[in-house]
Amino acid sequence: MTLRPDEISSVIKKQIQAYSSQLDVSEAGSVIQVGDGIARVYGLTSAMSGELLEFYSGVRGIALNLDEDSIGVVILGPDSHIKEGEPVKRTGRIAEVPVGDGLLGRVVNPLGQPVDNKGPIAHTQTRQIERIAPGVIMRQEVDTPLQTGIKAIDAMVPIGRGQRELVIGDRQTGKTAICIDTIINQKGKGVLCIYVAIGQKISTTARIVNTLQEKGAMDYTTVVVAAASDSSPMQYIAPYAGCAIGEEWMDAGKDVLIVYDDLSKHAVAYRALSLLLRRPPGREAFPGDVFYLHSRLLERSARMADKHGGGSITALPIIETQAGDISAYIPTNVISITDGQIYLETELFNNGIRPAINAGLSVSRVGGAAQIKAMKKLAGPLRVELAQYRELAAFTQFGSDLSKDTLDRLRHGERIVETLKQPQYEPMPVEQQVLILYALTHKYFSGVNVESIQSTQREFLAFIADRHANIIDELNAKRDISAELEAKIKAVCDEFFKK
Ligand code: ATP
Ligand code: MG
Repeated sequence: MTLRPDEISSVIKKQIQAYSSQLDVSEAGSVIQVGDGIARVYGLTSAMSGELLEFYSGVRGIALNLDEDSIGVVILGPDSHIKEGEPVKRTGRIAEVPVGDGLLGRVVNPLGQPVDNKGPIAHTQTRQIERIAPGVIMRQEVDTPLQTGIKAIDAMVPIGRGQRELVIGDRQTGKTAICIDTIINQKGKGVLCIYVAIGQKISTTARIVNTLQEKGAMDYTTVVVAAASDSSPMQYIAPYAGCAIGEEWMDAGKDVLIVYDDLSKHAVAYRALSLLLRRPPGREAFPGDVFYLHSRLLERSARMADKHGGGSITALPIIETQAGDISAYIPTNVISITDGQIYLETELFNNGIRPAINAGLSVSRVGGAAQIKAMKKLAGPLRVELAQYRELAAFTQFGSDLSKDTLDRLRHGERIVETLKQPQYEPMPVEQQVLILYALTHKYFSGVNVESIQSTQREFLAFIADRHANIIDELNAKRDISAELEAKIKAVCDEFFKK
C-alpha cells in the first residue's frame, strides 16, 4: 500500500477549513428544577413555543413557557426519574400524533400510543396536534344533517355536519349517553367517530369502549384516553390530539364526528398546569387564556368547501355544570363558542323524562338547514307546543275549572313528552322518527293512554315495516313528504289507530 501525502494533506486541509470554533450550545439544556409534572430547563435558548423536548431518561415534554433565562416544560409521562442537572435535547418538532385509518377500532393515549394491547398502530403519517383552524374561504355552510338517532334532538335541536353543538348539564344527567348513542347511530352512514375521554375514571371509559364494541361501532371509531390518573399535561393535549386525528380524515374529504368528554375537566387540567407554570391566575383561578384554550380547539371543526375536499368535523363538546349553573365561567365561554347547546336537567332526568332535554333552553343555531325536508315540516310546531305545555302545566297545577281548549293542550303536551322519551342505546332511523312525529303532530296518539305510548310506538313501526314497507323506502329515497306520500301515511295511521 502506498501512501500519497498530497491526498492526505488535502483532506486535512479541507477539514480545517470546515472547522468552526463556534460550539452549538443552544441544542442542549439541563434540568434545574422538577416536580408536579413541570420542569424548568436552563439553556435551550432557541427552543420554540410548543416544541417537543426529550429528557435524557427518554421522557418527553412540551416547552410552554419561554422565559428570559429558563424555559417551563410540561412533562408527558412520569416525572419521577427526571433528575436535577439531567440533559434535555431539542427535537425541532411540535408534538405529533400518528393519523390514518390504522387508528380505527383502537384506543390510544394523547401521544397516539396504543393502550388496548392490540399491538402497534399501523400508520405512515403523523400530524401536529396543534393547527390553525381553516379560514373563512376554505369553509362552506352546514347543510347536511348528522342524525343522532335521538328523536328529541333530531326534531328540535338538529345537528348538521360541521357544527359544534355543546352538550351541557349537571353530573349524571345522560350527557355521555347522548354522545355514545350518536356514535352508535353513525353505523353505515360514512361518518368516522372519535371519542376523547378527558379526566374520567378508567373503568368508565372501559365500559364505553365495551359498549361501542358490542354495538359494532368500534369499526369506525377511535378512542383517545387521558384518564383521571394521567398527568394534567396529558389531559391538556388530549382533545387537540383527537382533533388532529379527525383533521386527517376531514382533509381527505370524509365526515368526522368528535366527542370531547368533557371540557370542564380539560379546563381544570389546564388550570393546574398553568398555576404550576406560575402563570397569573384570573377568574376562578383559571389563566387568562382559558377562552383561547377552547376556542382554538372548537374552531377546528368545520365543513370544508368542495374545492378543499368537502369533508367535515362535527364536534360535540360536553360541559358539566354545578347545580345547573350555566352562567359559570367555563360554561358561558363554551356556550359562546359553539353553535348551540343541548341542555340536560337533573329534575327532568329524575322524573323519568330521558333523554332529559330541556327544550326551552336547548337551541341549534344551524337549525333547519340541517334537517331533512320531511322532518322540518313536522317538527316546526313541536318546540312551541312543548313550551306552551310546560307553562300551562305549571299554571294549572292547582286549578280545577279548565276549559276544553286548555285540557286538550295539556293532553297533547303530555303525549309529546311521552313520545320523545327514548331508552339508551336505541337510536332510531330518521324515517321512523318522521312517521312517529307525523302521528304525533296529527294527534293520532290522543286516543292512546300515556302509559302505553311507548309500546304503541313500537307496534306502529312494526306494523308499517310489516305491511307498508314501501312507505319507508319512499321516505328514505325522497327524504320529503309529497302530497301523495302524505295521503299514504295518513291512510296507514287511520288504519292502525282505529284499533
Ligand atoms: P357523568 O356526569 O357522570 O359523566 P353523564 O351526565 O355523562 O354522567 P351518563 O353517564 O350518560 O351521564 O348517564 C347517567 C346514567 O343515566 C347512566 O346510568 C345511564 O345508563 C342512564 N341513562 C342515560 N340516558 C338514559 C336514557 N335515555 N334512558 C335510560 N337511562 C339513561
Ligand atoms: Mg359522562
